[in-house]
Amino acid sequence: MYKNLLLKKGKDESLKRFHPWVFSGAVAHMEEQPEEGECVRVLTNDGQFIAVGHWQIGSIAVRVLSFDDIEIDANYWSDRLQVALDVRRSIGVAGRPDNNTYRLVHGEGDNLPGLVIDIYGKTAVMQAHSVGMHVCRADIAKALKQVLGDDLENIYYKSETTLPYKAGLGQENGFLLGNSTENVAVENGLKFHIDWLKGQKTGFFVDQRDNRSLLEQYAHGRSVLNMFCYTGGFSVYGMRGDAKLVHSVDSSAKAIDLVNANIELNFPGDKRHAAFAEDAFKYLDQMGDQYDLIILDPPAFAKHKDALRHALKGYTKLNAKAFEKIQPGGILFTFSCSQAVNKDQFRMAVFTAAAIAGRKVRILHQLHQPADHPVNIYHPEGEYLKGLVLYVE
Ligand code: SAH
Repeated sequence: MYKNLLLKKGKDESLKRFHPWVFSGAVAHMEEQPEEGECVRVLTNDGQFIAVGHWQIGSIAVRVLSFDDIEIDANYWSDRLQVALDVRRSIGVAGRPDNNTYRLVHGEGDNLPGLVIDIYGKTAVMQAHSVGMHVCRADIAKALKQVLGDDLENIYYKSETTLPYKAGLGQENGFLLGNSTENVAVENGLKFHIDWLKGQKTGFFVDQRDNRSLLEQYAHGRSVLNMFCYTGGFSVYGMRGDAKLVHSVDSSAKAIDLVNANIELNFPGDKRHAAFAEDAFKYLDQMGDQYDLIILDPPAFAKHKDALRHALKGYTKLNAKAFEKIQPGGILFTFSCSQAVNKDQFRMAVFTAAAIAGRKVRILHQLHQPADHPVNIYHPEGEYLKGLVLYVE
């Protein structure tokens, strides 16, 4: 049986409402000191069982794996992964010939705090954000193979940068199953090279799939600027949507190589596309007014709550530059993936930008993360991606 952790009096409220975290300040004492990453039983101050979860040093002391008094064994992992797969089948992203790119596990959203699994064709890229998930990686990999069967040949584990350095786990990125370097995956019928070895996150931003599809519908005959393009997801959809031209910009030269490779994969030799390694603010200052469809999908400006004010200013400044230059009748797709910035705050930052530029702006769509990045209703912190599609008169 797992070691018991007792909560301070009155600190069990949020857990009784199924919030999946125990903050370190809520812990009264532990019967026996656990190892980092070990499973513990969480009890109320008077000894009633509440939850079992992974213990870790830091502000979040326990990430809850179950509100039932169970053992976290092989069945636990295969049951949770099976439900996650069933959900993706219901959404219609898994089991489709024209789409083999999707998020199978989205942490708390799938009742697996600290675990992310993205599927790229026959390869799963697995990322641990907690020591507990790192400790369990072999069990998770085994269950994943069991659940996906022949649809899965490789599991790449990529947690070098997502785990606390101080835990001293010496974690290394590498394959837990197979070792294929075949890295082309299909999203809505479009092909992408996924660089899980060196790319950001798990190699691709799966979370923009639906928003890229929407962009495709707006692209016809337009001059598109895809700012912060990374692997060029929006650019490739824009090309298929019959854009007049697509310019992709990112400050990373490696990202520009990836965009060019992905355009070549889908539209070989197509002269409508060009890519530039350039800083966003510099490019927006120096560009002309040729664009009538602009995408702004910057990295998270606020990684923490303290950085909020600064981040909001950043969003305003960035969007104002786009509003100043976009053609009349233009469409702006603008995003924030900062968890610390909520929907209303982001909208206010964009509103301020529109006012600074003095343009007439209509909100056409309010966008968010897709269904394979679900939000656990008891864990609203899981909501992070928001976007607006705007018509600029
Ligand atoms: N839109 C992309 C994801 C964007 S991720 C997609 O759909 O896949 C954010 C990107 O912004 C990264 O590729 C990063 O290299 C780039 N970036 C960060 N700071 C930048 C800056 N100042 N100017 C231009 N690009 C920047």
